[in-house]
Amino acid sequence: MTGGDILGFQRNLTQTPVSDAEREAQLVNPGFGKVFTEHMVTVRYADSKGWYDARVEPFGPIPMSPATAVLHYAQEIFEGMKAYRTAAGITLFRPEANARRFRDSARRMAMPEIPEELFLQAIRELVEVDEKWIPGQAESSLYLRPYMIASEVFLGVRPSAEYLFGVIACPVGAYFKGGPKPIKLWISEEYTRAAPGGTGAAKCGGNYATSLVAQAEATREGCDQVVFLDTTERKYVDELGGMNIFFVYDDGTLVTPPLGTILPGITRDSIMTLAREAGHQVVERPYSVDEWRADAANGRLREVFACGTAAVVTPVGTLRSASGEFTVADGQPGEVTLKLRSQLLDIQQGRATDTHGWVHKA
Ligand code: PMP
Repeated sequence: MTGGDILGFQRNLTQTPVSDAEREAQLVNPGFGKVFTEHMVTVRYADSKGWYDARVEPFGPIPMSPATAVLHYAQEIFEGMKAYRTAAGITLFRPEANARRFRDSARRMAMPEIPEELFLQAIRELVEVDEKWIPGQAESSLYLRPYMIASEVFLGVRPSAEYLFGVIACPVGAYFKGGPKPIKLWISEEYTRAAPGGTGAAKCGGNYATSLVAQAEATREGCDQVVFLDTTERKYVDELGGMNIFFVYDDGTLVTPPLGTILPGITRDSIMTLAREAGHQVVERPYSVDEWRADAANGRLREVFACGTAAVVTPVGTLRSASGEFTVADGQPGEVTLKLRSQLLDIQQGRATDTHGWVHKA
């Protein structure tokens, strides 16, 4: 298949649909990643024929041989994005940015790059057949999880000759019930996430597998998330286990670590745009833990927040490490954090005019 063609999706819808009452009950408090919609999308790829066999089917297991390449060498990538129920209908937020990042991840992992139109078509198919699963309450949405795995049955160490691309979806409620609460972060001094030349900028499962031991350490230390440092000097902040990070100074400047070994967050990019439009200077530069500590102590650092698709914008209160802990300002959500958070949520949920072309009809 060439870039411009769109495959026809074969629809085989469920014969045993969930009743409206049952679905409504599941939508009340869905949590994250536990309740799935009734359908899924799959598209196959083979070196010999390109993309083929695009389907919408009932959600269910994917049978595979124990010798399937992904189970051994983790040649796998994924994405995370949301569909919203708004006054203007069902919308997606910057879906083409997810499609582009998925292609970038694929290239890094020696996988085929799915054409952007096919990626977006797959998303739209699933959103259309499972539209009833999109919650309507404030701050809730349908989380979409596109993924691709090496599906060749072969144990040789080389790029697979066959792949499975799929999309599943789960309804998610408000991340913070009763408003955003500051999180506490743990600095991982032993484990790192990504080295120059490595896979830090790709959204591949392996990055998350290696982060789990550090995240478990953070949890043991009474923290919500882990902060990873650079691999060379173990001095500069990279990002959190699943979010990017911003530092807000008393002169209105926002500082955020530069791209390279971190995931290029779509929320990060959107926040930088909104902040610049609001008159903030936004600087992408290496930011050290020493600076974080010193400027929290002298009062110049006013706010810290993390951002990502799942929680949108999350205030950060305290930073903890083996050598102790400190809190930025009074540890409460700051003004700039809350303003950027509500501005972005208002655009995503259709309460504010989208002047950036970010919101797309599903
Ligand atoms: N960093 C990591 C490691 C992540 O997993 C995520 C979530 N995708 C982010 C940053 C934030 O990216 P985005 O804003 O695109 O969700």
